[in-house]
Amino acid sequence: MNHPDPLLPVYPRASGLAFEAGAGVRLTDTAGTTYLDFAAGIAVNILGHAHPHLTERLHAAIDAPWHLSNLYAIPSQTRLAARLLALAPFASRVFFANSGSEAVECAVKIARRRHHHAGAPHRQEILAFAGAFHGRTLATIAAGGRAKYMEGFGDPAPGFRSLPFGDLAAVESALSETTAAILAEPIQGEGGIRAWDAADLRRLRALCDDHGALLILDEVQSGMGRSGDFFAHEQSGIAPDIVAMAKGLGGGFPIGACLASETAAAGMEHGSHGSTFGGNPLAMAAGNAVLDIVETPDFLPHIRAMAGELDHGLRQIQQRHGDIISELRGRGFMRGLRCVPPNKTLVSAAQQRGLLIVGADDNVVRLLPPLIVESGDIAEALSILEDACHHLSEQPEPTERDIP
Ligand code: PMP
Repeated sequence: MNHPDPLLPVYPRASGLAFEAGAGVRLTDTAGTTYLDFAAGIAVNILGHAHPHLTERLHAAIDAPWHLSNLYAIPSQTRLAARLLALAPFASRVFFANSGSEAVECAVKIARRRHHHAGAPHRQEILAFAGAFHGRTLATIAAGGRAKYMEGFGDPAPGFRSLPFGDLAAVESALSETTAAILAEPIQGEGGIRAWDAADLRRLRALCDDHGALLILDEVQSGMGRSGDFFAHEQSGIAPDIVAMAKGLGGGFPIGACLASETAAAGMEHGSHGSTFGGNPLAMAAGNAVLDIVETPDFLPHIRAMAGELDHGLRQIQQRHGDIISELRGRGFMRGLRCVPPNKTLVSAAQQRGLLIVGADDNVVRLLPPLIVESGDIAEALSILEDACHHLSEQPEPTERDIP
């Protein structure tokens, strides 16, 4: 029998939108309409679309062997690892995977294995936080702890416990002889752009130290400069033990990476983890090309300056349209607008006006532009948002029956 849609129906796609072309911060759909892309593939395309340097490096990599396996040394892998370590002073080991979920899984395995190695195999529990999102594998949905992602998938993977977000007293009482690690996103993404306070992150670090637990930070969405620092946790001055990265690292090519300190990685040895594709030359070419740009001295200052312009404009819009936007969240180019009407009404009003933005939990809309946006792009996005808010302000209040 012929099904109209051959794909597993797990995504409610934006109706009718399909993109075939794009350059810089713009995407053009199959009908020829161009959009300003403040979704960036959900925080992935940090250098926008078809960035000339990425395109050139990937073209060169296409003509060399694409895949070798980790049976052999891959010089571009060693090089990307060394470059990441130079940006991550806390770490001295890197494992390359293919996605954010895999990077988080690797982080959890490294943490548990470290305790096993140190003669404390009972230390297996990972403490995570409500509103977290760590991926869609069986372990990472258990880490995220959200019922809607776990329902029907059997018994949750053991050894994960979810605590109220930001509740340090709950953390303190949950830490025990069986805790392996605390796992947190410095800025929750899918959960609705909720940032840990810098002082609270420092306290988490101290609690881990006091109780012999490791601190794992999931910077899959917040890393690679999106917060205005290379890692979002840098603002707090702490040194985590393990960090998961992905999204922006490949600029659109699937890469995950797990970075660990020498002590945290102590239990990992030949055969204790692996990946067929992880760290293959195509992915490494993408990652090295992205870092060529991210490492330029102007890259982070540009993000901070542009994010300041975005922040200024968003504050004005919120002042004028408190009936639509109740709260501004996040920092850098990881911004959340908490909405009064259902967030999807703002997503679609913006889309109809040529701006792509993304929903998140807690009735939030996310702005996750490519990190190379310029003043003109920001002004345009702000003007579309203003217009979309204005339009929604004029809509009649939705009744219970209107909300699906
Ligand atoms: N961690 C965080 C913080 C994320 O935002 C995501 C993806 N949204 C993941 C992990 C999972 O990444 P992936 O979809 O690449 O497995």
